[in-house]
Order: sequence, then structure tokens, then C-alpha cells
Amino acid sequence: MTIRDTFNRPLRDLRISVTDRCNFRCTYCMPAAIYGESYKFLPRQQVLTFEEITRLTGIITRLGAVKIRLTGGEPLVREQVEKLVAMLAAVEGVGDLTLTTNGYLLPQKAQALREAGLQRITISLDSLDDAVFRRMNGNRSGVQAVLDGITAAEQAGFDPIKINAVVQRGVNDHTIVDMARYFKERGHVLRFIEYMDVGNLNEWRMEDVVSAHDIVERIGAEMPLEPLERNYKSEVALRYRYRDGGGEIGIIASVTKPFCGACSRMRLSAEGSIYTCLFAEKGTDLRGPLREGASDDEIEQIIRQTWGSRIDRYSEERAGIPVRRKKVEMYHIGG
Ligand code: SAM
Ligand code: SF4
Ligand code: SF4
Repeated sequence: MTIRDTFNRPLRDLRISVTDRCNFRCTYCMPAAIYGESYKFLPRQQVLTFEEITRLTGIITRLGAVKIRLTGGEPLVREQVEKLVAMLAAVEGVGDLTLTTNGYLLPQKAQALREAGLQRITISLDSLDDAVFRRMNGNRSGVQAVLDGITAAEQAGFDPIKINAVVQRGVNDHTIVDMARYFKERGHVLRFIEYMDVGNLNEWRMEDVVSAHDIVERIGAEMPLEPLERNYKSEVALRYRYRDGGGEIGIIASVTKPFCGACSRMRLSAEGSIYTCLFAEKGTDLRGPLREGASDDEIEQIIRQTWGSRIDRYSEERAGIPVRRKKVEMYHIGG
């Protein structure tokens, strides 16, 4: 039974943040100045166990979610995350099991993830220019380490591999054509993400966003593109194909072409709250009831109620919101 919200949007996707920790400090997500040595991440006992995540996933899939994505923070810094993958792969109703990672630990993890039943993988990489990339990730990694991660994913049998790149004006936008060319040659689907005003810490300004329109123009000027249909209604990426038949790119235009009308995503944070929007102010706690002994039916009721009263359409309203409100941080709920 698929549950629907106040705008009749079904629940289809669940994004699970398995940790609030990360080995990178991307300036647009976890700026190093704030997430320094002394920053207090969630203590272990406040983070959901694999058993708790699996139980909640079972309930949420019964309510309609079929696509499950593991994210974070950085999901691969959670110890033995492949065990969780295996547990989720066995949950009835899970139709698609995927993971988004910065790629750094993939040389150690790709094979185990594949064997555990992970079906697809998305790897984030913002530039092929080492200095630019280091500036964006708080100097935690060079480009080669992530390329090694991509190679490890290929060798483990992930195909196709999606690559995510956040585009920030004046930071990495001069490197997007090079990236497009590189991944076109290798047959991976590169997806550019418009820089978003998630959280409260990245000092986002509209002037820093490079629009989907501009991205397509810049790449199309060198390698002609034509638009493609969406694969399915709630797909977030706008798709374009190279006219010479050399594959496609995607653009996630959450700022200039919002897609709230088809948004079917629920997010589960590392500490066990569900959020019905990436830009939510607060979540609904499930860990409390879970640990106090609530039955599956009782938890299901909380989730039904939360989704049933969902009115989120932040990206469509963005232009009209006069005052910045307090929002959850991206690394909390994983994008
Ligand atoms: N650590 C993993 C990674 O980087 O792939 C998974 C979590 S990360 C929060 C998920 C995705 O959100 C990444 O592709 C990242 O680039 C993107 N992201 C984070 N902050 C963003 C922002 N302010 N605007 C657009 N995308 C953002
Ligand atoms: Fe870490 Fe991913 Fe956020 Fe970068 S975008 S700081 S890799 S969670
Ligand atoms: Fe979904 Fe919220 Fe993003 Fe709109 S702004 S697409 S409702 S997550």
C-alpha cells in the first residue's frame, strides 16, 4: 500500500543517512572551519544500529518505498557498511539498492559492497583539476584517489556508474567541459548538480549558482547535446544525449527547475528521524518509539501521519521566502 501526501505524491524513495561523519570537508556541505577537530558528532549510542535501520526500512517499504539509497555523511566511513547492505538487500520490497559516496574508500570497499548486493553506485567528484578539487573538499583528497575509487567500482562490476558534480560559479565551473569530455570517453553518466542552499552554513548566494541552462550551453558548444525524456516521473535529473551517440549527461536543476511536484523521497537521518524534505526544519523521531518498544504497527502509524501531512515544496517556493529559516544540514540527511 503506497501512502500519499497532501499533494497526492506517493512515497517511492528512501534515503538513509548511515552516519553524520565524513572524511571530507566540502565547503558547500561541511565547511572545515565549523566541522573541525573539536566538533561533536553523534555519539555511537545515538546512531541507529543496522538492525534498527533494517527494521525501519522494512516498515517503510511496506508503505511504498522501493528505491533505497545509502548516503551520509560519508557512508563508507560507517564500519562494515557492507553488512547493512546485505541486510537491506534481503528486505522484502526493496527493488533498487544504491549508495552515494565520495569514492575515497572504494578501493577497499567496492568488491564487498557488490558482493553484499549493492546494485548501483554514485560517486561524487567536483573537478578533475587537483587544486580546484582540493579547495572544494577542504584539502582532504586529490583527484586521483577518487579516480582510483571509480576504477575499483568498475572492477567490482558496477555498470553504469554515475558521477555527481556540484557546480559553483567562480569555483569549478571553468572545469565542467573537461569533466564532461573525460566521462563521455569512459562511458559513465556525469550529472551536474546546481549548487543548493541546503543547511545554514555554506553561505549560499543565488549568484553562485550556475543554471542548468548555462551548463548545457557551455558543454553543448563543444560537444552538441539534445534533450532526452525523463526515465520515470520522479527522476530528478534532466537528461541530455550527445548528438554523436557518445552517451548522456544529467543535470539536477533543483534551483532553476525545481521538481517538488514529483518528489517522492523520504529521508532517514543517522539518529533515526524521518524528514520529508531536503530543506526541512525538523524531522519526526522514530528512534525514541523504536527503543521504547513500539510495535511495527505503531511506527507505521507515525510514518503514515508524517507523510500524510506533508506539504513540502521548498524549491518551488524558494524565490518567495523572504527570511532564511533554520534548515537541517545536508550531511545529516544525505542529499
Ligand atoms: N558523502 C557522500 C558524497 O559526497 O557523495 C554522500 C553524501 S553527500 C551529502 C550527497 C551529495 O550531495 C553529494 O553528491 C554532494 O556533492 C551533494 N551536495 C552536498 N551539499 C550540496 C549543496 N550545497 N548543493 C548541491 N549538492 C550538494
Ligand atoms: Fe562529506 Fe559528501 Fe558532504 Fe563532501 S558532500 S562533506 S563528501 S558528506
Ligand atoms: Fe522534494 Fe523538498 Fe527538494 Fe522539493 S525541495 S524536491 S519537496 S526535497
